[in-house]
Amino acid sequence: MGLSSEKCIELEATYGAHNYHPLPIVIAKGDGAWVWDPEGKKYLDCLASYSALNQGYNHPRIMQAVRDQLDTGVTLTSRAFYNTRLGEFMEKICKLAGMDRALPMNTGAEAVETAIKLARRYGYQQKGIPADQAEILVFSGNFHGRTTTIVGFSDEDAYQRDFGPFTPGFRILPYGDIDAFRAALNENTAGVLIEPIQGEAGIIVPPEGYLAEMARLCQENGALLMLDEIQSGLGRTGRMFAFEHECIRPDVLLLAKAISGGVLPVSVVLASEEVMGVFKPGDHGSTYGGCPLGAAAAIAALDVLVDEKLCERAVEMGAYLMDGLKAIGSPHVELVRGRGLWVGVVIRKDSGKARPFCERLMELGVLCKETHEQVIRFAPPLTVKKEDLDFLIEQAKAVLSQPA
Ligand SMILES: *Cc1c(COP(=O)(O)O)cnc(C)c1O
Repeated sequence: MGLSSEKCIELEATYGAHNYHPLPIVIAKGDGAWVWDPEGKKYLDCLASYSALNQGYNHPRIMQAVRDQLDTGVTLTSRAFYNTRLGEFMEKICKLAGMDRALPMNTGAEAVETAIKLARRYGYQQKGIPADQAEILVFSGNFHGRTTTIVGFSDEDAYQRDFGPFTPGFRILPYGDIDAFRAALNENTAGVLIEPIQGEAGIIVPPEGYLAEMARLCQENGALLMLDEIQSGLGRTGRMFAFEHECIRPDVLLLAKAISGGVLPVSVVLASEEVMGVFKPGDHGSTYGGCPLGAAAAIAALDVLVDEKLCERAVEMGAYLMDGLKAIGSPHVELVRGRGLWVGVVIRKDSGKARPFCERLMELGVLCKETHEQVIRFAPPLTVKKEDLDFLIEQAKAVLSQPA
């Protein structure tokens, strides 16, 4: 408490690994969609921790649920024992997603790793894939986390350069190309791992009908369709899950980020009883996965999404923001795209990179982060108010109207 922005930044720069390049803003306090730095300057947070804070900062219901759990004196039990919150969390998320079984982990990357193990084992035991021949199909531009296995099937140089050798058994296909997908499916395909909308790649929405046809082909082939909705899920796109836009159902669904409302790292893998049934006691686990403090936060965070109709808000506020940003008519903007309250503003190459625009927005009180050099991503908490978006659009207009 009490350290200045300058001191906080200096300490991280001196003692921290330099694996991030943050904007020079220190967040000391938050409420709803707004944050304050230690000197008291106020900013609108349009990143919301990569959509982990869909419910906003300091949500009274989530904070109270966490306080109540802290008051029991029990934050962690390990899965060697039962706890009073995990079952309730599992029931809630299974019913919300229409899935049978939940396996709790902590980070998104761990949920992805869990899904890979699940698909491989299911492929060997149920589909009859010969030992060690299982293949998982993934897509260009993917982002699924940072473990050695996961970065091994990225096509982003920064994510994988000099981190090899990598885990075999993955094949990268062009995102959005159904013919390439059809051609790649074979008797050894255990599963398909895909983001229904690619967030880190710059909010890329695949062609209409792509996911529906993919789901059909997976079913025909016996491959598991595994949707990574770690960023797209839980209201961001205007539906609870992005797969609802194409009226499909995944075999395996991965959630994290907003599932705890930004309080603790909580992730979950959801599947049918049949698929999840390949895991037996001792096959997989995590010390903190399913801890009662995380489960208590998640129960409240999910209730808030439903009770406050945050999906509907994402539709309404997203349309308002998209229209407002398009109306700026900036010469620097190639296009504005997105879904729900998840908007990417693509900066023209001859106007430079997106980062300087983010830096100027920060000076004007709007926090956002570039993704993939040319895209400014706007993803404020879903609780954001219309007048907040007016403020955002006004500042975006100021920044995007200036010469680059
Ligand atoms: C953030 C993210 C992950 C990784 O989550 P971590 O909690 O950072 O490990 C995986 N997939 C997608 C789509 C993400 O946005």
